[in-house]
Amino acid sequence: MSLKYTRGTFQLMKSINRSSILNMIREKGPISRAEIAKQTSLTPPTVSNIVKELIESKFVIETTQGTSQGGRKPTLLEINADQFYIIGIDVGRYKMNFVVSNLFGDLKDSNVLRIKEHPTKEDILNTMKKGIHTLLEREKNGQKFLGIGVGMHGIVDVEKGISLFAPSFQLYDIPIKLELEKEFDMLIKVENDARTMTLGESWFGHGNNEDHIVGVNVGHGIGAGIMINGRLFHGDSDIAGEIGHVTIDLSGPKCTCGNYGCLQALAGGPAIAARAIKELKTGKYSRILDIVDSDLEIVDGKVVYEAACAGDEFSIELLNQTGRYLGIGLINLIHTLNPERIIIGGGVSRAGDFLMDGIKETLHSRGLTKKAKETPIVLSKLGENASAFGSCVLILEEIFERH
Ligand SMILES: [Zn+2]
Repeated sequence: MSLKYTRGTFQLMKSINRSSILNMIREKGPISRAEIAKQTSLTPPTVSNIVKELIESKFVIETTQGTSQGGRKPTLLEINADQFYIIGIDVGRYKMNFVVSNLFGDLKDSNVLRIKEHPTKEDILNTMKKGIHTLLEREKNGQKFLGIGVGMHGIVDVEKGISLFAPSFQLYDIPIKLELEKEFDMLIKVENDARTMTLGESWFGHGNNEDHIVGVNVGHGIGAGIMINGRLFHGDSDIAGEIGHVTIDLSGPKCTCGNYGCLQALAGGPAIAARAIKELKTGKYSRILDIVDSDLEIVDGKVVYEAACAGDEFSIELLNQTGRYLGIGLINLIHTLNPERIIIGGGVSRAGDFLMDGIKETLHSRGLTKKAKETPIVLSKLGENASAFGSCVLILEEIFERH
């Protein structure tokens, strides 16, 4: 088992020509050298030289599977996708989701570990290391692990790979990159989880190859990953996309951040449960009461969704209202950034069908132009794994030049 990654691997890709050719082979392979030269306007000798290096480094292999126009079959190039693996981690509130992907973003292995309650920084780092070791030990086919990407909720210093503030754990300054680098001799990248979700959807999901997209992660909290010209946008100090704390209702409920009427205080999972409980306490009937056996303490977003699926009018209307709140958050995004599409992921997005009517209704009534009103809103394709896959893309981005 070879776990060593050589810095040379990434050094090799520092050339735009190399990583662009590699990406062309990834997207269009099997492809011939001549076709690459034609599409990149590089000279055939340049292409040949670069391809030679890519074959030597095992990223590319030759194949003769192409269609021949009679006579000898042409030698084509394709990505040696299963030679290299990447680990992606999504750090949620209660659990860490680990995936192993090959160079095509195919799922090769996965693992989920629970995070203990009120974790310390060491607990978080130890759970991460444990999950990674488990996955590394399982792969015995000689694959080379290129790197580890981590999607972390809250505010992340992307340069230094530090989780500056993880609100679900009330932890500050977790040195994820530094600690994982000490333990594993690999490239380590850390990014906010809504941004990794957006990256994952952009590469392997419902990003539709658009340059300007926004991914909105609606779970316990709400965050957005903003992609402009195919690149994630971080802002000056990594807080771009914190739309969970955009004010929707000045006299709305208090948010965990201390302000009133933030989007996530109205449309996040706990907010949905809190609204349900408040209304049920006034004596309204809902199937929710049957599901929880009248124990309002255990009502959560999932229960509301379950009741809605069973046709409960109360829950359907509640989710519809949640959709209208989300719609206001999204129309603010649309008027600020004018994205080509918005992708909704995270736990609450499972109630997508119930949310969508409210979202679309709000967009239609508030959008400034016809196009703004009709901005495509789609649900995540990668679902629960979107953020973990997107964490793998943090490493793939270092290898393949997509734009
Ligand atoms: Zn807030």
